[in-house]
Amino acid sequence: MAEIRIGHGYDVHRLAEDRRLILGGVLIPHRLGLLGHSDADVLTHAVMDAMLGALALGDIGQHFPDTDPRYAGADSMQLLRHVQSLITRKGWKIGNLDATILAQAPKLAPHILQMRLNLSAALGCELNQVSVKATTEEKLGFTGSEEGIAAHCVVLLERMQLPLRREPAKVVPL
Ligand code: MG
Repeated sequence: MAEIRIGHGYDVHRLAEDRRLILGGVLIPHRLGLLGHSDADVLTHAVMDAMLGALALGDIGQHFPDTDPRYAGADSMQLLRHVQSLITRKGWKIGNLDATILAQAPKLAPHILQMRLNLSAALGCELNQVSVKATTEEKLGFTGSEEGIAAHCVVLLERMQLPLRREPAKVVPL
């Protein structure tokens, strides 16, 4: 069996006026958007933190500091491709991931497939390795009052199998 690692990510962003709502790289029409230094894609941030966590590589705050002007308005899908290349260089690949978005509004069901397509494309894996779900918290707490949106993600990474090295054929002296 391949060597595996599990990781968990959790993120929250505040909802605000005059901001775009981007989840899993999908721009979703809504009267409020997410506030943050980057594009505030809370789902993609949870996915990246899960991947980094699986390899004990810290969190996105260390890799992409919000004090760094290079990440102002950053496209989080671009940052995800960077994290993907990092885990690839370390010899790991996505086994699967499962994420849940906690949001009172808007309805996210029509956008879930596009989020999965975007994430699987950035991660270079199959659509069936990427699960995204959404739920409300029944008008309870900060997601219920539409103050913010939260996302959780767990990811399983698998060690890549190195290609078998062929030994050169031995020449047996006659
Ligand atoms: Mg974040």
